[in-house]
Amino acid sequence: MNLLSCLLPDATHVRLETWSLEPAQSVITLTLHARQRTAHCPLCGRRSKRVHSRYERTLADLPWGEYAVTVRLSIRRLFCDDARCERRIFAERLPGVAAPWARKTPRLIGRLTAVGLALGGVAGVRLGRKIGLACNRNTLLRLVRRAPLPDVVTPSVLGVDDWALRKRHTYGTVLVDLERHRPVALLPDREAPTLAAWLRGHPGVAVISRDRSGAYAKGARDGAPAAVQVADRFHLLQNLAEALEVVFTAHAKDLRAAEQGRRDTVAAENGTLPVPPSVPQANARLLAAGRRERRLAAHGQVWHLRSVGWTGETIARHLGISRASVFRHLRHRAFPERGRRADAGHSLLDPWQHVVLEHWNSGRRDGRWLFRTLQQQEYRGSYATLARYLHRLRGVQGSVRAYELPGRPPPVLAAASRRVLTPRTATWLVLRRASNRSTEDQALLADLRGQTPDLEEAVGLAEEFTALVRDHAPDRLDPWLKRAADGAVQQLRRFAKRLSADYDAVRAALTLAWSNGPVEGQINRLKTLKRQMYGRANLDLLERRFLLAA
Ligand SMILES: [Zn+2]
Repeated sequence: MNLLSCLLPDATHVRLETWSLEPAQSVITLTLHARQRTAHCPLCGRRSKRVHSRYERTLADLPWGEYAVTVRLSIRRLFCDDARCERRIFAERLPGVAAPWARKTPRLIGRLTAVGLALGGVAGVRLGRKIGLACNRNTLLRLVRRAPLPDVVTPSVLGVDDWALRKRHTYGTVLVDLERHRPVALLPDREAPTLAAWLRGHPGVAVISRDRSGAYAKGARDGAPAAVQVADRFHLLQNLAEALEVVFTAHAKDLRAAEQGRRDTVAAENGTLPVPPSVPQANARLLAAGRRERRLAAHGQVWHLRSVGWTGETIARHLGISRASVFRHLRHRAFPERGRRADAGHSLLDPWQHVVLEHWNSGRRDGRWLFRTLQQQEYRGSYATLARYLHRLRGVQGSVRAYELPGRPPPVLAAASRRVLTPRTATWLVLRRASNRSTEDQALLADLRGQTPDLEEAVGLAEEFTALVRDHAPDRLDPWLKRAADGAVQQLRRFAKRLSADYDAVRAALTLAWSNGPVEGQINRLKTLKRQMYGRANLDLLERRFLLAA
């Protein structure tokens, strides 16, 4: 076998007749013939070697180096000599080089399909052009659509979760094989009948791990009544976090008190005066006020529609917001004020604050001089930023000057800790593993518990629940449910009630090892795929890429 025939498509069935090379166009043209003298009639199967005529098909093949390759495939028409056969003349078939009607060789189609699956239309075309696999977008997408789906082995352990096809508008469902960590299917919505129908079509699922939405519980019950349902542990903790956040929202004043107390304590221990966090500038305040107005309006509308009997789903669709937002509004009758953004008050000056404070405390307070000094240390912020900070320092200093005794040194200023205790940060402080809490976290948490008996109880119950989920301790579930149900904190009573309503699945979450971790991974993959498709993702294309590029 010579080198050239090694490079041919399907060298066992075709041989190279002639070739030509056009350096100007960087094109190699190969003329190929069938190796076999005889061919079988596709209808009766009889062998024939009587040639009627020839015709030629032109196909694109994989490039050789920098050269595009065009295949001219010479195909014979032969007579069928079987008198009983209806077919008089037939064309020989060479599926290894040319599928019926194809204008590309199978191996080129295979590569293009792989590119399309991995990158989608637009990016696939762009890469294809660079690696000598030029192709237009529609062709690429057609190939992806034609790629056969893998045979789905019905998983015995199935993970179910929802994902946003269009955030706040359309949600679908992802099914993942939790044993093989492979995606199984995408469902077009997150309704019970859809899941039930899929389960009926794929009998044999023994365990279903799901979030705690009623729709999936019902779908699983209807479609696979024999399967064990497992509430996902992450979702259990998330539901707890939601309940706890409501508790903390109602105790916003106590949160502020705990935080202020901590700040004062730290300052007293160090004998320093903390610099308070910055106040946002006027236009930022204006924008924030606008956003608050819109949230306030939405809050009113949601509650109004609910009061006239609309369902959460209908409200979400009507107002164009997510179901989750609707329920977030419905959790609080009073409008919940937002906490500060996590990066609020961050500034380019942050890394140099301790430098500024050091100079300030030792008496070097001239703005221009400080600015030059910082610039030498690669400070890239503006003078105005520095000036605003110095203004704040002067403010703190001035507020105590009145109490200063003449001749005593001015108080030492220290940067205040950045943490702002919002309902959300407080919630995650409680849910954080004890081993991941800093000394400061622990002190803050203790202060928080000390504020009111309700907070003491809520934090205690939340910590116990988190621990029993993380420790997989089903024996501690029943006592916990009882204590929460008998407790004083309304939100946790409700939470316990909802857990009891889903008792078997919740208990299974503590006894079985399955979790939706692999589903989250697949959802992240799905999001990446969706973003590559520039939001024009048709579900069928997305599903193919999701299942085949795995
Ligand atoms: Zn025949």
